[in-house]
Amino acid sequence: MFLFSVIWFLSETSAAPSLTAEQMSMGMDWLSKFGYLPPPDPVTGQLQTKEALTKAIKAMQKFGGLEETGVLDEETLVLMKTPRCSLPDLSQSESPLRRRRRTLPSQTKWSKRHLSWRIRTFPKESHLLGRDTVRALMYYALKVWSDIAPLDFHEVAGSQADIQIDFTKADHNDGYPFDGPGGTVAHAFYPGERVTAGDVHFDNDEAWTFRSPDSHGMDLFAVAVHEFGHAIGLVHTSAMESIMRPYYQGPVGDPLKYSLPYEDKVRVWQLYGVRDSVSHTAQPDTSHGSDQPVLLDLPENRSTILPDSDIPDRCSAHFDAVAQIRGEAFFFKGKYFWRLTREKHLVSLRPAQIHRFWRGLPTTLDSVDAVYERPRDHKIVFFKGLNYWVFKDNNVEEGYPRPISDFGLPTEGVDAAFVWPHNDKTYFFKGDQYWRYDDYLHRMDLGYPKDSMLWKGIPAQLDDATRWSDGASYFFKGAEFWRVRGSDMEVEAGYPQPIGKDWLLCADMLSDSPAPDANGTDTRLRGQHRASHAGSNYQVCSCTSDSATPLWLRPSFSLLGLLVCFWTLPVALCIDL
Ligand code: ZN
Ligand code: ZN
Repeated sequence: MFLFSVIWFLSETSAAPSLTAEQMSMGMDWLSKFGYLPPPDPVTGQLQTKEALTKAIKAMQKFGGLEETGVLDEETLVLMKTPRCSLPDLSQSESPLRRRRRTLPSQTKWSKRHLSWRIRTFPKESHLLGRDTVRALMYYALKVWSDIAPLDFHEVAGSQADIQIDFTKADHNDGYPFDGPGGTVAHAFYPGERVTAGDVHFDNDEAWTFRSPDSHGMDLFAVAVHEFGHAIGLVHTSAMESIMRPYYQGPVGDPLKYSLPYEDKVRVWQLYGVRDSVSHTAQPDTSHGSDQPVLLDLPENRSTILPDSDIPDRCSAHFDAVAQIRGEAFFFKGKYFWRLTREKHLVSLRPAQIHRFWRGLPTTLDSVDAVYERPRDHKIVFFKGLNYWVFKDNNVEEGYPRPISDFGLPTEGVDAAFVWPHNDKTYFFKGDQYWRYDDYLHRMDLGYPKDSMLWKGIPAQLDDATRWSDGASYFFKGAEFWRVRGSDMEVEAGYPQPIGKDWLLCADMLSDSPAPDANGTDTRLRGQHRASHAGSNYQVCSCTSDSATPLWLRPSFSLLGLLVCFWTLPVALCIDL
């Protein structure tokens, strides 16, 4: 019956005609598994209606920060295949199919504050991580939570422990079988009276690692911090800046320096209150004594560790390229890119790696020069040096790279490429010249190049330019951007403006921000961190929002210094520190 409903749905929907029955079935299994659809009922053969499926897909897309299309499009399927935690995102009471009213999942917490832990089974023998390293990583992942909340974790030797940690695989007798490499990577049991309460299981089929680049294995520390969050009572959140997002998002930096995102601190303070020592952050935490485990680098990893400076700071970056692709904005810098939704909301403060998303670019490519979406066929064109690549969606077409002389462009490469909304022509900039190209006729217009000074108010040597959904065109150079709204090639009054503030969620106060943290992790929500270190006597307030748009991404700072307001949680909360 379930298969029938899959086929029925396939025949009813025309929005994603390229979906195979297998993909559809995978999608529906996924939605059931993580709480978006009620599981198929083997007795009644419950039929999933098209409306119910669309709604479940939209809920999943919203939680994952995707555009809510309600269709199992490629982007959604990619997210479904992203390694993640096995616990569902929505409790049954939250499922969009069960109730309209949004209710809080019931939170559980430990009634005691001293919790014991032990590693019952270690990763398989051949594993990269030795036992001492695994123990040290567990210690530091728990310490992340006990540093800010009044909880104490101590490792015990016997067989009894509140938090039992296992590296296990496939079916391991708890009803939540693991699935081999990728897919689900770990899960945990919430606090409670059950014997399994607080236990954490890691999939032993994953290539667990630490202090390695994003592309190498699964970062054990990042996943452990997330799972211990569950073990003390936190549920998943869709907030962009949280360790409790359900999807694996790569390493979070050095375990010895990691500090929780503000979102998670507030959530754990709601459960347990604030640890006394938190308000005296200048004091080193001595509560764990001097027996902190040493965490040595893995010799195997040394050559592959990302240099600290590798991840650029989005608030001070001079971008290599900016493009509007499928209505969204992409900001490229070095080997990374940030992505903004059509509503101009940053999808994640962490940049993604270009070569992991844009499949087919050489992995050695360390930056791009310009990117634009071709008006004729909506393919995406990347420029670097004397070469260009054409992408269909996020896969490179066969036969690329090709030389930019195909366009009739000069042999020094390009600074900028964008499509002028007023004539659908493609403009290329290099130095103080620009060219106009007709993508429909595949030829450069006559009379070019021309002097870029014809664009009144636009600087020479641009970083890049793009059109945007407000009908205007934007030109980027250094830390600033200029807007041209009309067809008169003239910059509007009031420009340039800072890129970081307008596009990348950097508050005014950060415009002169220093270089990112040495470990490259806590460049995130730096405004909040800085605000929260600005004085020892201030109030933090979290406000409610049910809006689909992530309002939390817009912290409002009162520079009187005492009130910081975030739209983060489904409940209002004010904490005096
Ligand atoms: Zn989880
Ligand atoms: Zn398990």
